[in-house]
Amino acid sequence: MPVNSDALIIGAGHNGLVCAAYLAAAGLKVTVLERRAVVGGAAVTEEFHPGFRNSVAAYTVSLLNPKIIRELDLPGHGLRVVERRMANFLPTADGRYLCTGGGRTRDEVARFSAADAGQLDAYAARLDRIADVLRELVLRTPPNVVAGSWRQGLPELLRAASVGRRIARLDMPLRRELLQLFASSAGEYLDSWFQSDPIKAVHGFDGIVGNYASPYTPGSAYVLLHHVFGEVNGRKGAWGHAIGGMGAITQAMARSAAARGADIRVDAPVREVLVERGRAVGAVTCAGEQFRARAVISNLNPKLLYLKLLDPGLLPPDFRARIERWRCGSGTFRMNVALSELPDFRCLPGKSPADHHTAGIIIAPTLAYMERAYFDARLHGWSAQPIVEMLIPSTLDSTLAPPGQHVASLFCQHVAPQLPDGESWDRHRDAVADLMIDTVNAQAPNFKAAVLGRQIMSPLDLERTFGLVGGDIFHGALSLDQLFSARPVLGHGNYRGPLPGLYMCGSGTHPGGGVTGAPGHNAAREVLIDLRRRRPGSRSGSWPSG
Ligand SMILES: Cc1cc2nc3c(=O)[nH]c(=O)nc-3n(C[C@H](O)[C@H](O)[C@H](O)COP(=O)(O)OP(=O)(O)OC[C@H]3O[C@@H](n4cnc5c(N)ncnc54)[C@H](O)[C@@H]3O)c2cc1C
Repeated sequence: MPVNSDALIIGAGHNGLVCAAYLAAAGLKVTVLERRAVVGGAAVTEEFHPGFRNSVAAYTVSLLNPKIIRELDLPGHGLRVVERRMANFLPTADGRYLCTGGGRTRDEVARFSAADAGQLDAYAARLDRIADVLRELVLRTPPNVVAGSWRQGLPELLRAASVGRRIARLDMPLRRELLQLFASSAGEYLDSWFQSDPIKAVHGFDGIVGNYASPYTPGSAYVLLHHVFGEVNGRKGAWGHAIGGMGAITQAMARSAAARGADIRVDAPVREVLVERGRAVGAVTCAGEQFRARAVISNLNPKLLYLKLLDPGLLPPDFRARIERWRCGSGTFRMNVALSELPDFRCLPGKSPADHHTAGIIIAPTLAYMERAYFDARLHGWSAQPIVEMLIPSTLDSTLAPPGQHVASLFCQHVAPQLPDGESWDRHRDAVADLMIDTVNAQAPNFKAAVLGRQIMSPLDLERTFGLVGGDIFHGALSLDQLFSARPVLGHGNYRGPLPGLYMCGSGTHPGGGVTGAPGHNAAREVLIDLRRRRPGSRSGSWPSG
């Protein structure tokens, strides 16, 4: 006997859970099917070494939308986010360091360049005004480019006009800057503001996170912008830590969705989307169980949904060809390490917990270093001088490690999603993990000896474990041709694919990757609009607006 629901969500990543919570709150009968034994997708916490727990993939929070936090009552379901005491700590090439955040940035930057220190306020104000535009757009459905009658086109035109009006509120210099941020490179943008390497490197890192590109690749400035539209507990642009790790966010989301009546099933991988008379009507799990629903909503990378779960003959050939060309592969290598003691940095000695131990510690002193790491990875698969960001969340959260001991997240950028010459990541993952540890050790010579255990996630591991194609942390590159109305395909930027009844709610839709909850929120709104149209007078309950 098939299980019947109003809405069937494939995948319990954070976006699937957000979508489930909103749909259930609107009075729909919602079922969620998750392939893994645990909900949360790339936002989960695991014990990776006896007594040591950490976020496995995503590791730091900022982008999670405040409206979603509020409406899903995530604090009421156990979520607590704390701020770092220092934003970033960057050892420099000449043996010094730069610290940012916590009211110290201006003095710190002045040690390298008085001119740069003088630029900081204007830079922050300018970027923040532009980020405000993004903040307003994240919870909106992008105008969809439609072929057909004016009746279909008119609402989209109005949507486009409203986006246009928002941008028109910016003065001309800001509009020019917005264009620059969408089209140029993070490197060029930062060079136009600053002279000294350390502050450029701190900001430039945001332009290459999850973006397999040089900081001088056009389009990388947008990735920088994508990383600054968040906030922590009302502080714009800040990054923080969820007590209990990123899994605490998705556990709170699951509790919120379940409290509203959603039925969430784990160990339930979907094998196929059921299609009848050209309409998606449900899904079949690998165990052969059938689930039927009025709306089927996928939390998966669009490549997985359209190339693995559907008969290719059911899709328009042009759409399918575009999904085949959907660019994935962000070139990230993720590790967790259990530590007997804190790293003792050459440039800022001390093993007792200090503010810099709570920071995002960036080992990549210049934009040129980052560019070289990218070129090396293109040629050889990784760089002998890799980019590592390290976070030690146990300095803010005693639930993760035994007293006096610590866990660190290493987020390493610029390894090739696919290695040259058909080499497998399985053959090289341990050697690359050693290199990452040596890279930290060169800055903090007690680090290697302090490692008690480690967890390694190569791009291939990320794909196998989480279904992140090519290890892509965003479900698809954040490039201009894959953003907004074109995410994932122009004409389908409104969470609806070409098959009626089949929707998308994952990071492969607007506004893209990161633990934002926005795609799940927006997709729920579109599903509700369609279901209400199909069944006038149905209950609407609490509606995700925006
Ligand atoms: C290493 C790494 C570091 C990151 N760091 C950060 C960070 O610090 N901060 C931040 O904000 N973002 C970060 N990100 C990005 C962020 O984690 C992701 O963009 C986001 O979690 C994706 O959420 P999602 O719900 O769209 O998809 P996912 O989390 O990918 O969820 C999709 C779900 O679908 C399930 N699934 C797949 N196939 C099937 C199937 N056939 N049947 C049923 N279920 C299926 C998967 O198991 C998964 O649970 C990071 C990502 C990675 C990988």
